[in-house]
Amino acid sequence: MIIRAKQSATEKEINKLIDYFTSKGYQVKDASGETFKVFGIIGDTSKLSEEEIYSIPGVDEVTRIQVPYKKASKIFHPEPTIIDVNGVKIGGGTFTVIAGPCSVENHDQICECARLVKESGAKILRGGAFKPRTSPYAFQGLEMEGLRLLEEAKAETKMPIITEIMSEDMIPEFVKNVDIIQVGARNMQNFHLLKALGKIDKPILLKRGLSATIEEWLMAAEYIMAGGNEKVILCERGIRTFEKYTRNTLDISAILAVKELSHLPVFIDPSHSGGRWTMVEGLSMAALAAGADGIIVEVHNDPEHALCDGAQSLKPKKFDRMMQKLRQIAPIVEKEM
Ligand code: PEP
Ligand code: MN
Repeated sequence: MIIRAKQSATEKEINKLIDYFTSKGYQVKDASGETFKVFGIIGDTSKLSEEEIYSIPGVDEVTRIQVPYKKASKIFHPEPTIIDVNGVKIGGGTFTVIAGPCSVENHDQICECARLVKESGAKILRGGAFKPRTSPYAFQGLEMEGLRLLEEAKAETKMPIITEIMSEDMIPEFVKNVDIIQVGARNMQNFHLLKALGKIDKPILLKRGLSATIEEWLMAAEYIMAGGNEKVILCERGIRTFEKYTRNTLDISAILAVKELSHLPVFIDPSHSGGRWTMVEGLSMAALAAGADGIIVEVHNDPEHALCDGAQSLKPKKFDRMMQKLRQIAPIVEKEM
């Protein structure tokens, strides 16, 4: 970290400034020249608060050299993280497809979807039991019954399952049988939940918040990792922009940004970004070509009658065709499918 002091800073203020860091165990290197008073702060500055430093009299500018997300950062962990989900390897050169309906609706629906997406090559089954809906009057998911049905589909197909958690109190239920716990976009900054998920040994798929910057997203991952759970998969699901034609704007560049900044695997959700099934194949191919480690995609056996997100759900046949195309592209971009 580099601190530039104000031209007008008094000697007393400079001494106080230096004391602030030395008392916290940092080394302060004076790099002042004739015109500027500049200090280098040496040590793990990820725990320092810029706001607090700005409140010290005499401080003009604070520049971070080290990223504030130490555990999620590639600097101290250059090798890509590979997460094993019941034998399915996520990250490090694989392209994993997670597929299934937006929400679990009944036994036949989830089991039929599971069987079909598995036949087409999906490795993990998705299905929401608890649904975060904008309207309190919209279908909220089958909740605990949905979780049980998802477990039945897992038992029948032997596919690992992923489903979204809403709050901390649900953790014990989720830990039992869910293989990846999803933190939805709306909960990306639910810091209590993130901290609690940091204490368990279970992979977490962390969606990017609706208007979160990449740094805020990585800091959310850091919350989980700081607690000891380093099995975090990031998922870009489109962000809010001025565009209304698509449900959200898929930030493909986020894949490349995450790859530059972090060792964590990064997924794309082509369903919640485009919001239309017609866009899912194209966005999925773009995700693979840009280097994503996988996708999480909505597939429904009867989208016209889906209780949630039918408009963006692929029919199993279309999903199968998309999988064939992805398998053709994968070797070109050196990904294993
Ligand atoms: C979902 O995947 O079902 C979902 C609600 O996604 P998001 O949190 O990205 O809106
Ligand atoms: Mn959905």
